[in-house]
Formats: sequence, structure tokens, C-alpha cells
Amino acid sequence: MKIIAGNWKMNGSRAALETMINSLRDVNTPNTVILCVPYTMLRTGANGVQTGAQDVSPHVAGAYTGDISAQMLADAGAKYVIVGHSERRAYHNETNAVVRSKAQAAINAGLVPIICVGETMDEKQAGKAMAVIESGVRESVPSDENGKIIIAYEPRWAIGAGLTPTSSEIAQAHALIARTLKSMGRGGTPILYGASVKAGNAAAIMSIPNVDGVLVGGASLKPDDFIPIITSVK
Ligand code: PEP
Repeated sequence: MKIIAGNWKMNGSRAALETMINSLRDVNTPNTVILCVPYTMLRTGANGVQTGAQDVSPHVAGAYTGDISAQMLADAGAKYVIVGHSERRAYHNETNAVVRSKAQAAINAGLVPIICVGETMDEKQAGKAMAVIESGVRESVPSDENGKIIIAYEPRWAIGAGLTPTSSEIAQAHALIARTLKSMGRGGTPILYGASVKAGNAAAIMSIPNVDGVLVGGASLKPDDFIPIITSVK
């Protein structure tokens, strides 16, 4: 059983989500399917798919114009929320500390945070990828061991670029994340791989040790692209 999560980013519509959910009705899969959609499209799950958001406020309530609390996401039907996505880190200057507080807020509201970590191309070329990944996990995962979490390893240079690391690079990163989580009392946490996953590479990626599923951007937007990824593994 794997976890297949889609990240629609700022794409789609309520009608497109309806079409996707209807298309999933006849898909027989043991895998957990999640669609992280824009706030306006959140809804309770149906046809074996749950929805998640793509960001959340670290605050519970108050004068934070434009922000959305974890409790509001839960109230809208979400079960998951992505925190620390590369685009949030790049365009909104989110640090590991901010990501950790958002993850904690999600857990407190009963949501499962999908915590993203990964290195930039500069960090990779400087030989710092493993250090960045490890500190990303240590600093972005709440120290409180309560509440379920999911980690997504997303090499930032590969997202949306049609590039993927080699299988051994993915294996090395996931093994490091698994070891780090174990040392933090969070052994067994699911670890997803994300960046340029498509039907043609999904099964191979999910056969790599410690890869418990995938986080899919562009290829999660259309049923014809997303369903073959969901059905590529049992
Ligand atoms: C993402 O944005 O989380 C992602 C994995 O994007 P893509 O699959 O398009 O590379």
C-alpha cells in the first residue's frame, strides 16, 4: 500500500475536482489517494480520495488577514495539509522553523501535515544535499512526537523541471530521512518522493527502498495522467 498525493498548486476549479473525483469512482486501488487543492476547492473526501490544503497558518485564530487556520481546513473537510513546499520556501521565505510551527498547528487540529524537505541545485552542487535534507527534517518536524505526519522528499531543482534524481540518489535521501526520523522517535513515518513523477516513472520510483509513495504536481491535474500513477503500484 502506497500513498499517492497530488499537489494542484494554484490550478484547477471546483468543476475540475468534481471530474477527478468522479473519474476515481471506478478505480480499484489499495493505495491512499490525497488531492491537495486550493482552499476554495476543499471538501470532504469521496470515492476513496481525501482532500488536503497546500499551506496553513501557524496561528489558531485572530487578526491574520488572508490566512487560514488548521481548524478551518478541518472544518472545510481537509484531512491533510502540505507545509514547507519548495514554492512556499522560495516565494514566501518560509524557514524550517516556520514550517515546524505550521506542522504543529496542523497536528493540533487533527490534520496530517505533509512536510516537504529538499535541496536546491546550488546546495546539491556544493555537496550539501544530505546536510540540507537532514537539517530540514530535524528542524521542520515538530519535537512533540504526537500526531501523524508524512514527509515528502522533494529535490527542489527537479520540481516541475521534468528532471529526477537517479534511483540511488533517491534511495540515499530516503534512507537518511528514515534514519533521522527514527532518531527523533518517529520511525515508521511515511516518506514520499516528489518532483517530476509521472505514469512512466512512478512504479520504478515507488520500488526504491523507503519510498512509501509519491507527491505529484503537474501529473495530478488530469485523470488521464493521475489515475495511471495511482494504479501503477499495489
Ligand atoms: C510538486 O510541486 O510538489 C511537484 C512534485 O511538482 P511536479 O510533479 O510538477 O514536479
